[in-house]
Amino acid sequence: MTPLRIAILGSTGSIGLNTLKVVDQNPHRFQVVALSANNNFKLLETQIRKYKPSHVAVGKEGLVYFKKTAIKGIKYYPVEDCRELVTLKDVDLIVLAMSGTGALMPFLEAVRAGKTVAPANKEALVIAGDLIMNEARKHKARIIPIDSEQSAIFQCLEGQKSKPVFVHLTASGGPLREVPIKDFKRMTPREILRHPRWKMGAKITVDSATMMNKGFEIIEAKHLFNLSYNQIEVLVHPEAIIHSMVEFADGSLLAQLGITDMRLPIQYALTYPERLPSGLNRLSLTEVKSLNFHKPDLIRFPSLALAFDAARLSGSLPAVLNAADEVAVESFLSSKIDFVDIYKVVERVFLRHKIVKNPSLEAVLQADQWARQEARNILEKLCR
Ligand code: MG
Repeated sequence: MTPLRIAILGSTGSIGLNTLKVVDQNPHRFQVVALSANNNFKLLETQIRKYKPSHVAVGKEGLVYFKKTAIKGIKYYPVEDCRELVTLKDVDLIVLAMSGTGALMPFLEAVRAGKTVAPANKEALVIAGDLIMNEARKHKARIIPIDSEQSAIFQCLEGQKSKPVFVHLTASGGPLREVPIKDFKRMTPREILRHPRWKMGAKITVDSATMMNKGFEIIEAKHLFNLSYNQIEVLVHPEAIIHSMVEFADGSLLAQLGITDMRLPIQYALTYPERLPSGLNRLSLTEVKSLNFHKPDLIRFPSLALAFDAARLSGSLPAVLNAADEVAVESFLSSKIDFVDIYKVVERVFLRHKIVKNPSLEAVLQADQWARQEARNILEKLCR
């Protein structure tokens, strides 16, 4: 069987590392053709020696380093220039494992080239979902999501002839699910970064604490599955065993269950439509015993309400939400503002934005830049 030729953008981050573990599990099935990383070029070098890609994109320092130590037979690119990487003739599937808006251009280029894209990245779909999905339809590019909730929905819809009437996005509720609201103010970055269910990067862990992450997933699901915002419901499910559900017209619900390990949705995307042994622990429902569900508390997590508004009003607003959140979270992570200030900053930027309907790529990028500057201005006044 010819191996699937993959490019992993963001190979040194948590999703990238898990993707390589999936490759290790069935090495004969995959060929790693391209890798990219921003700063961690030492780890990237280890990966290059092991997986022998022919194309590598890396940050400035890494480029200088690789020029000196050049491993033969590899073409190097600056990390900003992933365009060539995702359009390579000998790449079948691209794993978008990096976080941030930097994934937008590679995503667009990949679908324009008709490639299969497995995005773990949220930002690109949040800020430019319409543009990406339109291009994907036009160029018959397949998108198989890696985000666990979107993968669950994708899996539940597989083989169905009918569209769902609702999707139920499950949320573990994050590290603040049971913390009294009055204590939110003094939560430190270190406390927030101790997430009970999923081990992830810092930005996304803070976003789980505010539940903005789930908010982004609402917008993401809307685009990926061509839904209206009011067909999407968020369900807090602390055990994080059901990764999401779809509901059909007859009232039937289909759910995807599994252990909380990102290798599951990654492997599904990489082996689709097949399923292979994963080597992971199996889910034991008798050990889990009970599954709990409740509605999200929008007073506790106002970010979620803001994201629903962004999904409803749409246009350039989701891009603004994403950009303002990124700036505010960064400021919290460097201890410049309190946890509760993240929402205050994002909400203020959000309310000031004049929505552009059906934005072009330029308009999306403009909204992104505007929101970052606006957030910085607000932060300047807020900062101690
Ligand atoms: Mg998720």
